[in-house]
Parts: sequence; structure tokens; C-alpha cells
Amino acid sequence: MNLTDRIYVAGHHTLLGKALLRQLQQRDYSAVIASSAEEPDLTDRADVDAYFNDVRPDYVFLAAGMTGGIGANQKIPAELMLNNLLIECQVIDSAQKYGTRKLVYFASSCSYPRSCRQPMQVASLMTGPLEPTNEAYATAKIAGIKLCQAYRQQYGVDMISVIPANMFGPGDEFGVEDSHVIAALIVKMHRAKRAGMEKIDVWGSGSPRREFIYVDDVADAAIFLMENYSSGAPINVGNGSDVSIREIAQMIKEVVGYHGELCFDRNRPDGMPLKALDSSELLAMGWQPKTPLRLGLERTYRWFVETNGVIDS
Ligand code: GDP
Repeated sequence: MNLTDRIYVAGHHTLLGKALLRQLQQRDYSAVIASSAEEPDLTDRADVDAYFNDVRPDYVFLAAGMTGGIGANQKIPAELMLNNLLIECQVIDSAQKYGTRKLVYFASSCSYPRSCRQPMQVASLMTGPLEPTNEAYATAKIAGIKLCQAYRQQYGVDMISVIPANMFGPGDEFGVEDSHVIAALIVKMHRAKRAGMEKIDVWGSGSPRREFIYVDDVADAAIFLMENYSSGAPINVGNGSDVSIREIAQMIKEVVGYHGELCFDRNRPDGMPLKALDSSELLAMGWQPKTPLRLGLERTYRWFVETNGVIDS
């Protein structure tokens, strides 16, 4: 990518979209198309078509699409699936039609089978049943990978799929019911600290393990891959270390400065027992994650406090 190429971050208001904008800005790309006033309704065929016809981006990062934690995935699976399917179809097709040179699509680690061998390798995709708590969303994400491969095969257009580990960071959706675990626990502990509450609920048994990655590291890797990777095979983006939910809850407790008790609510689902990515291919290309987990949590909490987050129920 040249510094003056037209770069479109589809979904620039999402956790990842905002991080991509930060990272592109740091590198002095001067033609990033991403003001909120300009973004079309990405689920709408005519809107997206007109937008691409007008803007004609050289490069596209497809970071759009509704997402949520294990609670949201159980509550609104249809919305999550439909929203992601529509966006993938419209953006990928318009990118091809209006001459985008390269597109990076973001899948999800929940695209892997529930009982996948760990750490998860790209060869394991579609080799077994998905985790039931996020099957609808994961199916939409897999469809996006397949769509990129089909467009590459039929039209020869360079579309790659990136599979990030569990992302967190500034700009996340901070809510109690629908957020991903780190954002949800930050909200719960921050509120409990302020209200002097003696305990908070942590969902599940605390034993599932997740590989958490700071979102700016994913954005950094995605720009690296835009420049250095071209293949129909998806590529994993992780940092190679996983922690249990109990451990991450304890770390968040320290970062927030909450001194109450963590009560594990086994009536809430655990989801996948372990999600860890084999990112050896990316690491062998010379890319390295930059943000240790603890530092990422501190930055995220500072951002949450400074902006006061968006606290729903
Ligand atoms: P997942 O990686 O797709 O399962 O997504 P999440 O980020 O929602 O959840 C990760 C794990 O954190 C699951 O095992 C949850 O049971 C656990 N967890 C513990 N407390 C919470 C919480 O307050 N919110 C969410 N979303 N997950 C929680």
C-alpha cells in the first residue's frame, strides 16, 4: 500500500475498525476513507454499491459486522448471523466490482470446531461441529472466508481472511449482558468498586481458557498481512498465550482496584473449553505482538474511565 492509496475501513466504529484507523494514522496513510458521515448502511445492496462506485477504494479492511459475547450470541443469534452475512456479501461483491486491489476480511476464532485440536490450525476449519453457543455467528464468519476464496478463484481478486484471537481494547462495547468477557468484567468491577459491593458474578466455571489479544496488535498484524500475505488460506493472528477466565478475572480485579469477591455462576454457559490459535505462520513471517496482556488491560481500563464507557443495563 502506498501512503496515498485509497484505503477503506469498513466498520470504522467497531472495536477493530477504530484500532485500524489509529494504526493507519500512525503510519501516515493520507487517504483513509472513514468519516462516520460517509459510511453507508453496509447491509444494503444499493447503498454499498453506490458508495463503492463513488469512492473506489484501492484497499479494503472488512472490519464491519455485529458482534457480541456469549450472552448476545444466545440472545440474538439471528440478528448476528444475518447482519454479518449481509455485510460480507455486499462489501466483498462491491469491492470486486469496483476494482479494489486487495481486501482483508476478519473472521473469528469461533469459526473453529468446538473440539478442535489446540492450538487451532487453519487445516482444522470445517472438520467438526461448532460450539453451540455461537454457531449462528460462526457460520456467518465461515461463509465470509468461503466467499473470499470463491471471489479469489472466480475473479482472481486478492482477498485474504484473517482469524484473530479474542480481541479487547479501547473502544469496545462495555455492557453487562452483551459484551465480551473483558469489557463485561471491567464494567461489573468498576461499578462494584464505586458502589462498595462485596461481590460480583463471573459467568461459568472460570476454567475455560482464551487467548486474548490487544486490538491494536490485530490491526498492526492486519496491515502487515495486507502488505505481505496473499493466499486463499486464512491466517491466524494471536500472541501464543492463553489464560483461564479465573485468571483474567483476577487480573482485571487488580487493574480496576476492586477488592470484593468473584462468585462463579455455573448457571451461565462456559462456551468453548479452550480457544488458542496456532499463529506460527504469521510469527515466521517476522510479525510480533507488541502489547502484553496486563498493559493492554490497563490501557483499556484507562480508556473506559476517561470516556466513561457506554454502560447499558
Ligand atoms: P467467547 O470467547 O465466544 O466464549 O466469548 P466471551 O468473551 O463472551 O466469553 C468468554 C468466557 O468468559 C466464557 O467462558 C464466559 O462464560 C466467561 N465469562 C465470565 N464472565 C463473563 C461475563 O460477564 N460476560 C461474558 N460475555 N463472558 C463471561
